[in-house]
Amino acid sequence: LIRAEGVHKRYGTLDVLKGIDLEVAEGEVLAVIGPSGSGKSTFLRCVNHLERIDAGRLYFRDRLIGYEERDGKVYELPDKAIAAQRVDIGMVFQRFNLFPHMTALENIMMAPIMVKKEPKAEVRERAHALLTRVGLADKANSRPDQLSGGQQQRVAIARALAMRPDLMLFDEPTSALDPELVGEVLDVMRDLVSVDGMTMIIVTHEMGFAREVCDTIVFMDDGVVVESGPPAALLGEPRHERTRAFLSKVL
Ligand code: ATP
Ligand code: MG
Repeated sequence: LIRAEGVHKRYGTLDVLKGIDLEVAEGEVLAVIGPSGSGKSTFLRCVNHLERIDAGRLYFRDRLIGYEERDGKVYELPDKAIAAQRVDIGMVFQRFNLFPHMTALENIMMAPIMVKKEPKAEVRERAHALLTRVGLADKANSRPDQLSGGQQQRVAIARALAMRPDLMLFDEPTSALDPELVGEVLDVMRDLVSVDGMTMIIVTHEMGFAREVCDTIVFMDDGVVVESGPPAALLGEPRHERTRAFLSKVL
């Protein structure tokens, strides 16, 4: 579903991604782990074309993300076409960034109505179903400041799901939460995997969750993929010293 080939990203003179190669198959759940500053968020942002890439290719269903190729050259897509691509890719950030002046229900309904121009009644019904699914049926009319962090994050997940994405990107969805609220968000994500078979890329420090739910773990350091593999192998018998050093700090 997703393929990265030699993806490079620079900020000024800072090389943040130095050639990322990876693939995520349909239905696969990929965890990305690595030290702070290694480029994990930057990579996720590139997958949603929130960042331009400086070299390499990123494909979603065999189409370039954010670009098109004409006469052997690569051009950035117009905003409209980029927006159309993003419809299929949901993203959940560390900070919940819900629209503060809207209720939970309105937050969830916003994009399908504004971006996809779907009928309001239908979207409302789906939004209620999604709220029920994330365990917040009774919070439809609450504003973000009336919700806990874990509740806000569950609304943020429901909001992303309202667009019926084929791929979900999570950037440390639980790391801003109080410890006792982490579980409720992970439960929602676990449910997405077991019930929907959702394809997901999850940047996380929750090693227990990664081990249990993910098919593959990628360890990134200093803008490269150092190694990747099934959780048992990567966490149990890391091949590289850098991976071992990182894991010894977080496990
Ligand atoms: P963390 O675990 O702390 O979230 P990360 O692996 O997600 O780290 P990134 O946020 O991708 O790391 O950042 C990688 C590097 O790129 C860092 O050195 C960061 O300072 C730099 N960086 C990120 N965004 C920008 C930006 N918009 N402008 C300049 N530098 C940036
Ligand atoms: Mg980050």
